[in-house]
Amino acid sequence: MREDLQRLLELQTWDLETIRLEGELNSSAPVREEIVQKVLDGRKKTTALKEKYQQVCITRKDMEAKIEELQAQIAKYSAQQLQTKKNDEYRAFENQIAAARKNISTLETKVLELMDAEELARKTYEDSAKSDKENEKAYKERILSIDKLKATHTQEIKERKQKRKELEAKVEPALRIRYERMFRNKRGHVLVGIDGGACGGCHIKLPQQAVLSCISEEPNVTCINCGRMLYYSPEMHVEN
Ligand SMILES: [Zn+2]
Repeated sequence: MREDLQRLLELQTWDLETIRLEGELNSSAPVREEIVQKVLDGRKKTTALKEKYQQVCITRKDMEAKIEELQAQIAKYSAQQLQTKKNDEYRAFENQIAAARKNISTLETKVLELMDAEELARKTYEDSAKSDKENEKAYKERILSIDKLKATHTQEIKERKQKRKELEAKVEPALRIRYERMFRNKRGHVLVGIDGGACGGCHIKLPQQAVLSCISEEPNVTCINCGRMLYYSPEMHVEN
């Protein structure tokens, strides 16, 4: 294999690992955001369930207060009823007491219904809060691992870019500039082998002349289809 291409291949291997790390780093941000959103959505749902439960509780207590009020009224009417000497007044009190008792009975039925609803609402809210707590524990671990990956990858990419200078200095400038321009466009393999007689990048079958030029280590052999730089090394199989 040509020595200049060997060095360029080392540079490319280096660059490919760097962009792989950059890719992982970039894809971690939306994943993190998604996890944070799930935590917030969970809490929002639980808060709504808590408010619903509290509302049922308030309604039940209001009705119980109303029942107490009616019972006090009945006691008052009963006392007044005992004091009156007039028959029509006596009957009027009796009617009012009966009406209040009827109201109490209706309210008591409602209170019983609300107690069931309240129990269900309380359980739903508590289950949701429990599930939030469990989920958040797992989410927190994932966020910590994402943050750790971000820190280590950022540092490693920085170090790799520094170290790259040593590798790039070994490659002839014109060749390196051509490679870098293509690498930016393709975001991947630019210098490829010709194993099987085909371009290692786009996999099109290469003309025999191109294969022969590679084998005889001519400079600047490129794929007629995709323009990638081609190289040959002895372990590759090519047709005669
Ligand atoms: Zn190609």
